[in-house]
Formats: sequence, structure tokens, C-alpha cells
Amino acid sequence: MSDAGADGIAATGAVLRVRVARKVYRSARSEPVEAVRGLDFAVAPGEVVCLIGPSGAGKTTTLRILLGLDRDYEGAVEPDPREAGSGIGMVFQDPRLLPWRTVEQNVRLALPRERRGRDLDALFEPLGLTPWRGRYPGALSLGMQRRVALARALADDPRLLVLDEPFVSLDDAAAASLRGLVVETVDRLGMSVLMVTHNVAEAIEIADRLLLLSPRPASLVGAVPLSLPRGQRNRSWAEATRRDLAGRFPGVIAD
Ligand code: ADP
Repeated sequence: MSDAGADGIAATGAVLRVRVARKVYRSARSEPVEAVRGLDFAVAPGEVVCLIGPSGAGKTTTLRILLGLDRDYEGAVEPDPREAGSGIGMVFQDPRLLPWRTVEQNVRLALPRERRGRDLDALFEPLGLTPWRGRYPGALSLGMQRRVALARALADDPRLLVLDEPFVSLDDAAAASLRGLVVETVDRLGMSVLMVTHNVAEAIEIADRLLLLSPRPASLVGAVPLSLPRGQRNRSWAEATRRDLAGRFPGVIAD
């Protein structure tokens, strides 16, 4: 019997399975807000998945749940993010670097104590961070700070890299450069990625599979595999794919 979830991915062997039957924010002062309803998806080993949804859909809520930061929901996340070594590396939108620590110290401090002394040359070099190791975050552009946040997320060799809108607020050149680095890193290390974004073009450039979310409460309206290898994608293919998606999922993907 198949144990595939709503998105068709088998739970067995998945690096992550998220099942949120219901997530409701309650407060004494206002009406309850149902943020997620019946959201069920998995990420397979080596797969790059982009979670796309409009602003306010419930993407951040879903991320907080799968990271174990919010336990007040109906459902389950496997592996349990509260267990040590769940193998998730997280890059938040805000790089969250300690300003009084160097780039290298910021990365080392995120490692478990027994791994703090590890050799980081092979991590810093491909990310172009070698010349910046001894500098403080204040001396870095936002694009470079995000690279440091990426290095920090990769330092403990995660099985799954989770990225929350990693390219917002960057100028086009910095965003393209960081996007290239993320793709190169993911292909080189063969890890799984879950990226949250509202930018469809960006998702089409990077993803093996798109998960499209409804407006709040977030649920899955489509799971779309993009089978063309990343290296063979070009602008006209991307534009045709986007138009096809806009036709199939009106209201979720703009024309
Ligand atoms: P997204 O990341 O897709 O923009 P969020 O997950 O941040 O969406 O929010 C989903 C919905 O839940 C929004 O309507 C938001 O206003 C609401 N929400 C988020 N956090 C809280 C909270 N702590 N209390 C009440 N409502 C919240």
C-alpha cells in the first residue's frame, strides 16, 4: 500500500513530512485567526521544493511549526524538530548575526560544542567568504550577511536546508548572485531544500517541485513538478512555465 501524502510524495524516506490539520491563533482580545487548514506535504531526499503563497497565507506559521518553534497546532512533523539532530539548517530573512562577533565566530557559535573547532575552509571558500572571515557583520552588505547566514545554516551538514524568502530586499545583481550560490551549493552537496517565497519566477528558476498554497487558511492547491534540469532552464522556458501555471491556478499565480 502506498503511504503517499496529499502531494504524492511517500512518507517513507522523506527528509521532512509536515501534516498540519489545523492551526488557529487565539487571543482574548480578538477573533480567532485560522492560519493553516489541512496542509500536508513532504520533501524527498535531494529535492528542492518551493512553497509559494500570497502574503498572509500562513507560510511563516508553517515554517515556525516545522522548526518546532510553535507547538500549538493539530498535526505532526516528522522528524520531530524538538529532537536534537533533526538535521535542519535554517536561513531566516533577517540574517540575525551577532554584531560583536566576526563572520567566523558567528558560524562557529551555531555549531554544537563538540564541532566548534572543525575546519571551515571548504565551507567558506565556495561561498566567497574566505576574505571576510575575520570581519564583523557591520562591514558587510546585506547580500554578504545572507551568505554568512547560509554558511551558518550549512555548517552542521544539515539534511534539509530551509530558506525563508532569502532574496528579498536585495538589488537584482545581489539577488542573482546569491541565487546562483544557493543553486551551486545545493547541487554540489545534494541536500534537500525547502524554500518559502512569494516570487514565482524565482521558484521556477530553482525548484524541482512547486507547492502552491491557497490564501489563508493555507492549504495545498497544487503540487507541480518541474522536471527540466536546472542547468537547461532558460528565460523562454521559465516564461512559458509561468504562463501555464497562471492558467492552471488562477488567483494563486498572477498572469
Ligand atoms: P505569511 O508568512 O504567508 O505572510 P503568516 O504565517 O505570517 O503569513 O500569517 C498567516 C495569518 O496568520 C495572517 O493572517 C496573520 O495576520 C495571522 N497571524 C500570524 N501570526 C499571528 C499571531 N501571533 N496572532 C494572530 N494572528 C497571527
